[in-house]
Amino acid sequence: MGGIASPASGSSDVLVIGGGLQGLSSAFQLAKAGLRVRLLEAEYCGRHASGVNAGGVRTLGRHAAEIPLALAAREQLWHGLADIIGSDGGFVPSGQLQVAENEADAIKAKARVAMLNGLGFFHEQWVDQQQVRELVPSISPHVVGGIWADRDGYALPYKVATAYRLAAEKRGVQIVEQAPVLRVDHQSGMWQASTAQGAFHAPWLVNTAGAWAADFAAQVGDPVPMVAGGLMLMVTQRVAPFVKPVLGAMGRPLSFKQFDNGTVVIGGGLRCEADASQRHAMVDLNRMPKSAQTVIDLFPHLRDVSIARAWTGIEGFMPDEIPVISPSAGADNLVHAFGFSAHGFELSPITGCIVAELVTQGTSTLPISAFRVDRFTAA
Ligand SMILES: Cc1cc2nc3c(=O)[nH]c(=O)nc-3n(C[C@H](O)[C@H](O)[C@H](O)COP(=O)(O)OP(=O)(O)OC[C@H]3O[C@@H](n4cnc5c(N)ncnc54)[C@H](O)[C@@H]3O)c2cc1C
Repeated sequence: MGGIASPASGSSDVLVIGGGLQGLSSAFQLAKAGLRVRLLEAEYCGRHASGVNAGGVRTLGRHAAEIPLALAAREQLWHGLADIIGSDGGFVPSGQLQVAENEADAIKAKARVAMLNGLGFFHEQWVDQQQVRELVPSISPHVVGGIWADRDGYALPYKVATAYRLAAEKRGVQIVEQAPVLRVDHQSGMWQASTAQGAFHAPWLVNTAGAWAADFAAQVGDPVPMVAGGLMLMVTQRVAPFVKPVLGAMGRPLSFKQFDNGTVVIGGGLRCEADASQRHAMVDLNRMPKSAQTVIDLFPHLRDVSIARAWTGIEGFMPDEIPVISPSAGADNLVHAFGFSAHGFELSPITGCIVAELVTQGTSTLPISAFRVDRFTAA
C-alpha cells in the first residue's frame, strides 16, 4: 500500500469514510464550502440504511436535543431540496400523525405537546378525535386524538441518496466505491486511510461509516458503546387510497405510509438480528405480524391485504438513541457523524451542514453538545 491510488488521483483536503447519506451530504457541503473532498465507500453509495430506509421526514416525537437540528433540516433543506441538490428526492409534505388509541395515550400526548411548548417548540400539535377524522377519514373509531406535525412528510431514500451523490460529484467530490477502509492513521498532520485500492491521504477525516463507524472511532481514541442492529420494513400490495399523512401510534411501535401507487410501507422500529461483519441483516418473519396487526386495528378494511415484500437495513444504535455529531475528543482534524439510531434520514441534510461548519470553522451554529463523542466516557 502507499501513494494515492487511481481512479481518484490528486490530493484532497478531506477524506470522508462512508457513502451513506451522512457521508454524501457532508461531502456535498464540504465541497460547497470550497474544500477538495474524497469519499471512500466500502460497497456502493446508499447501499445500506440510507438507501433502504422508510423515508420518514419526521420531526415529530424526537428527543429534545435533536429538535433544533430536525427543524433546521426540514425548514432549510427538505422543503427546498430541489434548489439545493437539483432533485426533491421524492419529498411529499404529507404531514405526520401519531395517533392516541386510548385515554392514557391522550394524556401522554398532551403532556408531550405541553412539554415542547414549555421548551419553545410548537411544531407538534394536539389534535382531537374530530380533527383526526378530518385528516384520516377511514381511521378506526377507537382513536381518540393524536399529535400532528403538518410540515413533516416522507421522501424516497434511494432518490435522495442518488441526488446527493450527483450533487456532490458536480461540486468535484471524488467518490471511490468498493474501497473498504481497513484502518486509519494520523501522522505529521495527515490522515491516512488504508484500503485495498491503496492509501489515501488528507489533513482532515470525516467518519460517517454508519453501523461500522465505532471501529474507526475506537482506533483514534474515541470509544463509543454503539451497537449495530437490524431494522425491517414490509410493503403491501396496492390498495385504494385511504391515508395521506405518515401514521405512527403513541402506544405501540409503528410507522406506515401509503404511496401514490397504492402500496403501504409498514415499519417503525421493527428490529431484527444483524451481522455487521457480514454486512447483512435477516428478515425475521415472526416479528412482523405484530406490526401488521396494529395497522389492521387502525384500518380494519386492510385485513385481507397481502404483504408483497420485506427487507432489512443495518443501523448504528447508541444507548441514549441520539447520534454522535462531534469533533473527535482523541484526535485532531477529525469529525464523527454516526449512530443515528433509526432516525437519521430526516437529519442527514443538516448533518452535512454541521460537519462542514466543524471542519471549516471549528464550531456549529446549531446546538450539538448533546451529541459529543465522549459523552459516555467524559463523566
Ligand atoms: C429499515 C430502516 C428504516 C428507517 N427508517 C427511517 C425513517 O423513516 N426516517 C429516518 O429519519 N430514519 C430512518 N432510518 C434511519 C436512517 O436510515 C439512518 O439513520 C441513516 O440512513 C444513517 O445514515 P449513515 O450515512 O450514517 O449510514 P449508512 O447509510 O449505513 O452509510 C454508512 C456507509 O458507510 C459504509 N462503510 C462502512 N464501513 C466502511 C469502511 N470500512 N470503509 C468505507 N465505507 C464504509 C457503508 O457501506 C455505508 O454505505 C431507517 C433505517 C433503517 C435501516
